[in-house]
Amino acid sequence: MEQKLIIYNTLSRKKEEFKPVTPGRVGMYVCGPTVYGDAHLGHARPAITFDLLFRYLQHIGYKVRYVRNITDVGHLEHDADEGEDKIAKKARLEELEPMEVAQYYTNRFHDAMNALNVLPPSIEPHATGHIIEQIQLVEEILKNGYAYESQGSVYFDVEKYNRTHHYGKLSGRNLEDVINHSRELDGVNEKRNQVDFALWKCAQPEHIMRWPSPWSDGFPGWHCECTAMGRKYLGNHFDIHGGGMDLIFPHHECEIAQAVASQGSDMVNYWMHNNMITINGQKMGKSLNNFITLAQFFSGEHEALTQAYSPMTIRFFILQAHYRSTVDFSNEALQASERGLSRLMEGLKNLERITPAEGPDTVGTAYVEELRRKCYDAMNDDLNSPIVISHLFDACRVINTLLDKKATISADALKELTTVFRTFALDILGLKEETGNGNGREEAFGKVVDMLLEQRRIAKANKDWATSDKIRDELASLGFEIKDTKDGFSWTLNR
Ligand code: ZN
Repeated sequence: MEQKLIIYNTLSRKKEEFKPVTPGRVGMYVCGPTVYGDAHLGHARPAITFDLLFRYLQHIGYKVRYVRNITDVGHLEHDADEGEDKIAKKARLEELEPMEVAQYYTNRFHDAMNALNVLPPSIEPHATGHIIEQIQLVEEILKNGYAYESQGSVYFDVEKYNRTHHYGKLSGRNLEDVINHSRELDGVNEKRNQVDFALWKCAQPEHIMRWPSPWSDGFPGWHCECTAMGRKYLGNHFDIHGGGMDLIFPHHECEIAQAVASQGSDMVNYWMHNNMITINGQKMGKSLNNFITLAQFFSGEHEALTQAYSPMTIRFFILQAHYRSTVDFSNEALQASERGLSRLMEGLKNLERITPAEGPDTVGTAYVEELRRKCYDAMNDDLNSPIVISHLFDACRVINTLLDKKATISADALKELTTVFRTFALDILGLKEETGNGNGREEAFGKVVDMLLEQRRIAKANKDWATSDKIRDELASLGFEIKDTKDGFSWTLNR
């Protein structure tokens, strides 16, 4: 690899040089959504963070197998192993088959991801499609003595595991902290210890999502699916496991314990976690009335929103912060992102309007080389997207001086500048021109003006002064200022 990628490993709590298990290949697993409701900003952040990593790893030459799961069973209401299954509850309330609920929200999730230009993962396994693998995992843990059966359910014996291993090594806790902070919930009678977590749950008679197992008709504990599916598709030892910081404990901590208890060793080399998004300084939550879905952002239909925000504005907003920093949503912050994004896309378009100089090159290839190096350096430093964006903004300033003919650039340097700009903005940051709303509408509008001015240029070339003047005068009456330049025209709209 030409690029030396450094990433922050949550497990070692430091930045490390990325070295894959198999040279040239990367196995990467990211926890996907539980499909019982519409995706919101909290889903957009890990999706975009790991899309950035997926794109970058491929860009620097790795063959990447990216697995992102769909949780469609076993995620109970209290994010622990108690309460009702989130999907089963929605199905009961809406009188639907649980798989109808899961399919509906999976489709909605895919639509939102497409809009955000998040590339689909290589494999998107569903928890319900991997019940056999999860039962096998539970059997292995039982066989190794780190789990016990109780009234048809199977629990992980955290206390026993912790005698020889460190339960809490990812989240930096020790068992005592965990015991002191665990809540008293039902099911407590079945467990030896309050901190034990479910590997298999015996289904109550009213529970509709159930499968046969050696222990009972029931369903797997939430943490099992990622261990079972990660291993199935990426092997016993793979490179990267990611997700939001809120998953570090208990979900990822439990995944580590399950892997070690079943196969005797850790499965994952690099744990990566994105930070959370707050809304006006508060945590997002249905009870706080600040729970805004992505569809609501795109349409503007939520009382907390002063306008609609295009998917690329949301993407750009998330990329403007480093993935390990918190991000606070506000209308002002998103409006600033909207302006920033249009400046960047404008820079991209302006590159096509620059005419290279025949004479001296005041910008020079050295500048372009430095820009390229600085952008790679930022990406290699734990995916520092805000720094990449600041370098692209600097490039926009240079592009403007070139447009204003206050600087000159050779054809070769211009070609390189265009390549660097497009590579980082489009391929790596994953930004795209939007059509149909927001910037897209303005883009179409701009093209119509360009078309009219092209007609005027042809009229002038044919000495058809009447048509040429008519186009100019009518555009002027609408507020357009047309400038004839050496090689065509330029226009601005004064409103
Ligand atoms: Zn997971």
